[in-house]
Amino acid sequence: MAEVERWFVDIGLEVRVDAVGSRVGRLAGERPEVVMSGSHVDSVSSGGAYDGALGVIMAGCAVGWLAATRGRPLRTLEVFANCEEESSRFACNFWGSRAMAGLIEPEEPEGLADGEGVSIADAMRICGLDPAGLADARRTDLAAYVEPHIEQGPVLEETGDLIGVVDRVVGVRGLRVSLTGVGGHAGTLAMAARRDALAGAAEIVLGVERLARGRGAPTVATVGQIEVRPGGFNQVSGLARLTIDFRHPEEEVLAELDGELRGLVASVAAARVLEVEVSQGTMQAAIRFDGRVCTAIEQACRDAGVAWRRMPSLAGHDAQVIGRLCPAAMLFVPSKGGVSHRPDEETQLPHIVSGIEVLARTLFRLAYQPLP
Ligand SMILES: [Zn+2]
Repeated sequence: MAEVERWFVDIGLEVRVDAVGSRVGRLAGERPEVVMSGSHVDSVSSGGAYDGALGVIMAGCAVGWLAATRGRPLRTLEVFANCEEESSRFACNFWGSRAMAGLIEPEEPEGLADGEGVSIADAMRICGLDPAGLADARRTDLAAYVEPHIEQGPVLEETGDLIGVVDRVVGVRGLRVSLTGVGGHAGTLAMAARRDALAGAAEIVLGVERLARGRGAPTVATVGQIEVRPGGFNQVSGLARLTIDFRHPEEEVLAELDGELRGLVASVAAARVLEVEVSQGTMQAAIRFDGRVCTAIEQACRDAGVAWRRMPSLAGHDAQVIGRLCPAAMLFVPSKGGVSHRPDEETQLPHIVSGIEVLARTLFRLAYQPLP
C-alpha cells in the first residue's frame, strides 16, 4: 500500500486512506461528483500478480495520463485501491467496497478472525485504523465506477477480442446439505441393511455434476466440501454434510436450479432412507451493470479500434458491490490460457496497453464530457 500511495503522488493524485484502509488517489474536477476506477490490491494465497492489482495499475495509468494530457476534469476522477476483496486472511470478502456501500454488518469487525485468532478490528488497530469509525468509509458522491480486471477465463483468448465489456455478474447460490443415516461396522453391517450417508452424498455429487453439464454453459455447479462422520476406514458413515455452490447470470435460472438441486437431494435421500436437512448458504444476486457505462466502454473500444465483445463475469468483483451505489460496469483484458488465482496467471503487455487506452477513453467520456 505504501508503494501504491507513492505512485499515486508521482502521477499527480492526492492520496487519501479511507476508514478501512483502502487507498484513493484523487484528481479534483470542477464538480464534486466522482467518477471512480480501480480494483483490489490483495489476492488469494498462492495467487498471481495480475488479479486485482492490474486493475489498480490500469486505472492509475489511465487517470495519470488524463491528468497529464487533459488537465482538470469536469467531474472528479478517483483511483480506488481496495484493501481487501478476496478473503485471503479473513472470511470477509469485498471488505473495502462493502465499507464504501455501508454493507458491513456491525458484528463483523470484532467477530471475524484470521487463522491466528486476530479479529479484523484488532488488525485494523494494529494498522492505526479505528474500527469504530468504519461508517466514515461510506460514499454518497459517486457518479460512475469502471473496474478494469483480468478476465480469469478463456473467452477473450478464444475469440481473439481484446476487451470484454462486462454487462453482468453471475449470481452465486449455495446450499448446505446434511444427510443422516445409520453408522456401523464395515464388516458386520449387511449391505442390504445399510443407510450409508456417504454413499448418498456421493450420489448427490455426481447428480449435481450431471445436472449442470446437462444445462450447458454458463451454468456451473460444484460440491466443494464434504464432511463425513465418524470417518473411519472401517466404519459405515452415519452422517455426511456437503455444500453445493451453483452460479448463473440469470436469477430465473438460479431459481430453477435451486428447485432441481433440492429435488435431487430429496430423491437420493428418499431412495436411501436417509434423513435430510437442506439450508440456504450463499445468496449473491446476479447483477446487471449500467447500460450507459457499458456503452461508454464500447464507444471507447470503437474509438481505439479494438475488438471487443459483451460478456458476463463468472466471478465476483468489487463492481457488483459499488454498482449498488452508482452506475457501474467492468472492462476485462485477456488472461493467458484462461488461468487465474495461480502464480502463473498472466496478461500480455500489448493487451494491458490496449486496456489502458480503452479505459482512458472511457473515463474521458465519463469525467470530461457533459453526460447525455
Ligand atoms: Zn479480482
